[in-house]
Amino acid sequence: MHILKVLLALSLLSIPLFSQAAPLHGIDVTDLDRKVDPCTDFYEFANGAWRANNPIPATMPRWSKRWASGEATKGQLREILDQASQQKSAPKGSTEQIIGDYYGACMDEARINARGIDALKPWFAAIDGASDIAGLQRAIADMHDVSVTVLFSLSASTDRHKPTWVLADLSASGFALPDRDYYLKPDARFKEAREKYVEHIARMFVLAGWDQKSAAAAAHTVIAMETKFADASLDNVTLRDPNATDHNTTFPQLQAMVPHIDWVEYFNHLHLPTDVDMNVDEPKYMQEVERQLQQTPLADWKIYLKWHVLNSSAEALAAPLVEQNFAFFGKYLRGTPELKPRWKRCVESTDEYLGEALGKKYVEKYFPPEAKARAQEMVRNLLLATRDDILSRPWMSEETKERAMAKIATFSPKIGYPDKWKDYSRAAIQRRVFFEDYLAARRFVVEDDRGTIGKPVDRSRWGMTPPTSNAYYNPLWNEIVFPAGILQPPGFDNNAIDAVNYGSIGVVIGHEISHGFDDQGAKFDYLGRLRNWWTDSDLKQFQERGACVADQFEHYFIEPGIHHNGKLVLGESIADLGGAKIALMAFKKSLEGKPPPPDIDGFTPEQQFFIAWAQWRGDAIRIEEQRVMMLADPHPIGKFRVIGPLSNMPEFQQAFSCKPDSPMVRPADKRCEVW
Ligand SMILES: [Zn+2]
Repeated sequence: MHILKVLLALSLLSIPLFSQAAPLHGIDVTDLDRKVDPCTDFYEFANGAWRANNPIPATMPRWSKRWASGEATKGQLREILDQASQQKSAPKGSTEQIIGDYYGACMDEARINARGIDALKPWFAAIDGASDIAGLQRAIADMHDVSVTVLFSLSASTDRHKPTWVLADLSASGFALPDRDYYLKPDARFKEAREKYVEHIARMFVLAGWDQKSAAAAAHTVIAMETKFADASLDNVTLRDPNATDHNTTFPQLQAMVPHIDWVEYFNHLHLPTDVDMNVDEPKYMQEVERQLQQTPLADWKIYLKWHVLNSSAEALAAPLVEQNFAFFGKYLRGTPELKPRWKRCVESTDEYLGEALGKKYVEKYFPPEAKARAQEMVRNLLLATRDDILSRPWMSEETKERAMAKIATFSPKIGYPDKWKDYSRAAIQRRVFFEDYLAARRFVVEDDRGTIGKPVDRSRWGMTPPTSNAYYNPLWNEIVFPAGILQPPGFDNNAIDAVNYGSIGVVIGHEISHGFDDQGAKFDYLGRLRNWWTDSDLKQFQERGACVADQFEHYFIEPGIHHNGKLVLGESIADLGGAKIALMAFKKSLEGKPPPPDIDGFTPEQQFFIAWAQWRGDAIRIEEQRVMMLADPHPIGKFRVIGPLSNMPEFQQAFSCKPDSPMVRPADKRCEVW
């Protein structure tokens, strides 16, 4: 293949990351807990002192330097929004008008509280007006228009067999607790969560104007219906398998699957042709939808739909509803004691629904072009390191390596912000009572997404907003995406030494690249097609190596009886392990041909790299949040994201001269290596 040759011809010379004119800061040694042996518990050693001095704030479920930086960004966004909301002369449809009026409406809590539950009345009236399933269906379609994804969700998705094309994807969306286990498992903690959930639903209905007795009865109706939907839906491990949700479906097949829905009318409502390409993620779930449409009395449906309007929009309603919503989902389920201040919730809401409008202003002010150029350079270094790493895998045949090289050659990075911004001028934001502007923004998001269905893929679109302190890999587009929000200190720091930058943002970049070769990403080829490109024996080797990682995480407990689900966190854990290794390789390469950088406080450059990595990845997380994560989050908790990959790496053992029987060194027969 030509691509392999082109890649091999690329220069192997190191590229200095930053100009070294000014003195640069290194790792912060005051964050270390030196009482702890790095070979015993590197998580505690690397930032135990920081955690002791920086307890999780009352409004947060987790905390680290990275989370602190993400929250600090919200302060910058607040300045932008305060300014925009005070500007009365911004032209209608301009970015300033849209974000300023949205934020201004959100901040006007007195007006929201005075409106009370009136905002919900038209929605409840429309649901009450339904006299049959056809009427219900019209109410459901209206709810879908504002992203109340009750029963199922229909959204745009890249065709996994033709990744240049966008199809309509129908996924399961019928319950509000974080995972199906909450509805189905007999354990005491789930039983308690169900009882608390029923109480919560009843309280919300009372706050929405119902009497105690009917609210309590309604709560039982809701959980009974949600339990049936939860039971029919796939678990989170199965949902990670793109083959398990791969069901291209024709319109007649959809009609046969759920005949109680008038799909012609539904598609007309969405302005979609009935011959549009479609995928149904979970046919078994859709069959349950059909069964419920046949069996559930109309009165129960009405309760269920009202609950989902109420639950889905609670954050935009009067204070008592906001507080009750937080009391259950924030405080009880995730252990966070306090609601965030209103300004921060309004900043988050603007980012969520008008993200590129706000993001455009944010990058103008806070993301200099040099940052983009430097990040691009770093991504290039990491891709070169990945190529070297894969080519050196002894277990992989030349044939599969060649195909992996093709995949690396088509990797496309996106850095900072979109080249083409969304046009928000038609978002009907007018600084009304917030609920109306909130629904208008949600309507914009839905229409923006739906408008792409049945058309060629527009690869300029982004799946995260520019201020987001996160990153992602999209296997269908084979792209890695790093928003401006993550490309700032402490992750990416113009004034820091290479060890710090490679140890933090470098491992993030390496992590996202490695997702292209994790248990999920490896199923997609260089064009983003869901297609096997591995020889049988290489695939077997790869799966065995993955099984080693899955088994490792199965043994990580957060409290007696509760441990990680190895298969759920497998993709993230392969990416963490691969990311650390690739970033270290790229860091070492960056040192070639230069005088060795100085030790800091006795720590060698390699030790500094590992410390930077642990300080970036090592979140403190509330135990309640950890329990939710064990079930619903494919990411391991911060502690195991540090201990897990590093205890597999001989490079770590060597860097800290750990004895072979140290807790941070997995025995040779248990050591996992994928990439
Ligand atoms: Zn990841």
